[in-house]
Amino acid sequence: MDPQRSPLLEVKGNIELKRPRIKAPSRLPLSGSRLKRRPDQMEDGLEPEKKRTRGLGATTKITTSHPRVPSLTTVPQTQGQTTAQKVSKKTGPRCSTAIATGLKNQKPVPAVPIQKPGTSAVPPMAGGKKPSKRPAWDLKGQLCDLNAELKRCRERTQTLDQENQQLQDQLRDAQQQAKALGTERRTLEGHLAKVQAQAEQGQQELKNLRACVLELEERLSTQEGLVQELQKKQVELQEERRGLTSQLEEKERRLQTSEAALSSSRAEVASLWQETAAQAALLAEREERLHGLEMERRRLHNQLQELKGNIRVFCRVRPVLPGEPTPPPGLLLFPSGPGGPSDPPTRLSLSRSDERRGTLSGAPAPPTRHDFSFDRVFPPGSGQDEVFEEIAMLVQSALDGYPVCIFAYGQTGSGKTFTMEGGPGGDPQLEGLIPRALRHLFSVAQELSGQGWTYSFVASYVEIYNETVRDLLATGTRKGQGGECEIRRAGPGSEELTVTNARYVPVSCEKEVEALLHLARQNRAVARTAQNERSSRSHSVFQLQISGAHSSRGLQCGASLSLVDLAGSERLDPGLALGPGERERLRETQAINSSLSTLGLVIMALSNKESHVPYRNSKLTYLLQNSLGGSAKMLMFVNISPLEENVSESLNSLRFASKVNQCVIGTAQANRK
Ligand code: ADP
Ligand code: MG
Repeated sequence: MDPQRSPLLEVKGNIELKRPRIKAPSRLPLSGSRLKRRPDQMEDGLEPEKKRTRGLGATTKITTSHPRVPSLTTVPQTQGQTTAQKVSKKTGPRCSTAIATGLKNQKPVPAVPIQKPGTSAVPPMAGGKKPSKRPAWDLKGQLCDLNAELKRCRERTQTLDQENQQLQDQLRDAQQQAKALGTERRTLEGHLAKVQAQAEQGQQELKNLRACVLELEERLSTQEGLVQELQKKQVELQEERRGLTSQLEEKERRLQTSEAALSSSRAEVASLWQETAAQAALLAEREERLHGLEMERRRLHNQLQELKGNIRVFCRVRPVLPGEPTPPPGLLLFPSGPGGPSDPPTRLSLSRSDERRGTLSGAPAPPTRHDFSFDRVFPPGSGQDEVFEEIAMLVQSALDGYPVCIFAYGQTGSGKTFTMEGGPGGDPQLEGLIPRALRHLFSVAQELSGQGWTYSFVASYVEIYNETVRDLLATGTRKGQGGECEIRRAGPGSEELTVTNARYVPVSCEKEVEALLHLARQNRAVARTAQNERSSRSHSVFQLQISGAHSSRGLQCGASLSLVDLAGSERLDPGLALGPGERERLRETQAINSSLSTLGLVIMALSNKESHVPYRNSKLTYLLQNSLGGSAKMLMFVNISPLEENVSESLNSLRFASKVNQCVIGTAQANRK
């Protein structure tokens, strides 16, 4: 205990120390929500306790006012008395109770009037009057007063002693109490330190928790934002879900409908399968029958062609062209057939007046009539379509695998080129046999593709002039020049012939054929300028190699269609003087005559089934050998000019054609003959 401190201060200190004990529970670390309070809130939290303590009212005030009370030794008696009285007045019995409550079992200290040293202890006179001062001479009286005074002092001393004793006791008690309180204070200080430490820890925790709270608040706000976003998304998704649900429902409805349709379709399909299987069997059977019929058709077609004659001769008379002299009536006559005028004409009569006979007799001899009969005669008015109609079946034989060869024979200007290629100007009505035959072949091949046949076509076009072969499909630098071409076998031991240096062009449509004919015309035009009218002095051979295959049956067929525009058959006028040009012309003519007569001989040998066929005697027959013999079909157009001036040549042509026609064996007409 601090010796400097008065017991009362000690008491006050103890009481102060005690106060925390009352408040202690509130100073302990707060739990739960109270942790969140701010320090000032905490102070507020303490307020009720303070107030409660203050509610002790005077007690606290008295207690706290003690330090200002001077110690017993220093406080003047009057002042002490006054203070004591004041204390007594202010506190009264409540003070004692309060102290008793505050100091627990401490005995109440009675307020003792403390006499100020040096002040008179003489009680005041009765009635409040001081004894009047004794005269100096009244010694006895003075002595008496002094004795009375002494007596009072002694009493007073005694009283004071008692008081002192009491105070001593009180002091002792207070000291003990102070000691106990000191111990308690230390304990409490320890507690306080702990509590402070706890408080600091709490503060720290609080700080941490605040930081945590802040962080959590931040996170919360983020989460709230997220939640809002998610809610928005949720709303959107709900919308979407509603949409999808309705779609799903719609699709389910459709699915149900589809399933119903499917099940009915399945039943239908099953029945269709059965039907299809039955039809497939039927189809296979019909295909088989169809194939049989097709083969039968081919056989019969060929038989028909053979009956018509493997070598046929058609005669075509061209019309009189504008500017040409009108021939005398009866020059050419076309007598009706046995069936009357409705029958297609097959006969032709040419009347020629023999001038020499008339001169000898001196009178004009009657014209000599020459009758000819052919497989078919086309008078001047016959159109290209009419002509083609007659040969269409023959052309089709090429698709069936039989070589077909069509010639145009006649003098220059009789209409050979017109018949083969067509008239000028690209008029479709005037189209010749070559474009019409190819169009026909393409369309029949297309029809046969439905029966499993596939066809390919390769075209070539060459010219044979003076026993030299020239490519009419040459392009580029070779165009019109006609480099040397040779006829060779396609391979050792092969029957197939090929022309070296000549172009073989695959064709599949009319336009490609048109382009080739145009190119051939251009090539001829170039040659014409170089050598006068060479085209009429040469043979033009258009050949189409046809290959057909029926893959599922492993069948193949191949044949060639040859369309030949022969050189002019006219003979050289024997009366012409032989100049250099004529000599060349003579050589040309001899070559032409040689090749044409070879053609006649070859046909004769074939029809007579001779062992030797002179194919090699001309380039033309050599090139066409595969299209002439065997099962090949041959057709010769003999083109006739209607003019009187050409009668002689017409007669020669008709005689040649007639010979060829007579050669034909096996035709109905031939048999009839
Ligand atoms: P060739 O080739 O035999 O020398 P062309 O075919 O060149 O004869 O015919 C000579 C002329 O006669 C050509 O102008 C041609 O257009 C015409 N011509 C030929 N035949 C007929 C016909 N049937 N109808 C109309 N004009 C024809
Ligand atoms: Mg011609």
